[in-house]
Amino acid sequence: MAENNKSKRSALHISKGVEKQLTHNDDAVRRFKSMARRSLEVNEYMEGILSHNRTLLSKAITLIESSLPEHQVIAQGVIEKCVPFSGRSIRIGITGVPGVGKSTFIEALGKYLTGQGRRLAVLAIDPSSQRSKGSILGDKTRMEELSVDPDAFIRPSPSAGSLGGVTRKTRETIILCEAAGFDTIFIETVGVGQSETAVHGMVDFFLLLMLAGAGDELQGIKRGIMEMADAIIINKADGDNLNKARQAMREYQNALHLFPPTESGWIPRVSICSSLNKSGVEEVWKTVMDYVNLTHDNGSFKKRRKSQNFQALIDAINERLKDNFYANSSIKLVKNEIESDLLSSKLTPYAAAQKLLEIYYKNLTD
Ligand code: GDP
Repeated sequence: MAENNKSKRSALHISKGVEKQLTHNDDAVRRFKSMARRSLEVNEYMEGILSHNRTLLSKAITLIESSLPEHQVIAQGVIEKCVPFSGRSIRIGITGVPGVGKSTFIEALGKYLTGQGRRLAVLAIDPSSQRSKGSILGDKTRMEELSVDPDAFIRPSPSAGSLGGVTRKTRETIILCEAAGFDTIFIETVGVGQSETAVHGMVDFFLLLMLAGAGDELQGIKRGIMEMADAIIINKADGDNLNKARQAMREYQNALHLFPPTESGWIPRVSICSSLNKSGVEEVWKTVMDYVNLTHDNGSFKKRRKSQNFQALIDAINERLKDNFYANSSIKLVKNEIESDLLSSKLTPYAAAQKLLEIYYKNLTD
């Protein structure tokens, strides 16, 4: 008895009582472990990118392009970590109708730049790329020299999606490329259309390639695109075409005078070049540098980047809201029905939209 009492008083005695509460649950442990794993991956990617590891850079870009949520989580982690190391490049948009010579030009200017000690990343925007499988390198002859240049990195356009999606992925890819030490970024638009505006919204300098005497003076290039251009380059200024190119240069110079002055104070320039003979590309680069110096000095370089960041924020919100709406399970359930009500004129488009939005707002927690 005495022994029993003694044991009860012992600090080691465990009295039978309330069941011990679990200090954690399995789900939390799992989440913690996956977070730890993810942050390890994020750090691995970031360190690889900062040490200019091209394989890890490519893999991280693939994560950006993936639609799998777990890939997106890692991609966002990597982007956040890379942002402080980004922004120190010159971002140049290059556009023009198919066949104008964009890839030949990029190859010529790109080789010139890597020869000058620059490191170049070439990205593409092509929201219509389902057709071409989105490959800037689909045709193997494109950028033959640049594609094996250790100071150049060529990345095909993300396979097709909405323009908004492709734009976001390209913006994020720019950040990773800059963190990986690329000081010059080319964004090529394949085709002519809305993607030019998207590219203009993410570059410092916008370059339009044109041809001389190719029928219609504006070659299907809308006036709006010409107005966005910081430089117009008449390509294929060689052989029999040289005089025509000079003539076209004068015409475009006159045409540009009629455009309203730019906010940055930069006067867009027109020049000729032969990407095939690699002549005139040096002058193009001089134009870019003149622009960079002017806009750095008058503050409009930073101003343009800031307003682009603001636009990126708005685009990101719009895109996420839209994705969230269409991914909502209640919307998925009723969408077809409401659409057929619209087709059979039971509902107007506005009433249909109102109905869908009400259902969405009621089921926002999805
Ligand atoms: P893209 O579709 O705009 O990328 O055009 P490419 O670079 O593929 O060029 C289309 C064609 O024009 C190819 O056959 C090129 O060899 C040719 N080309 C490109 N640049 C020049 C140039 O400066 N002079 C001449 N004569 N041909 C060129």
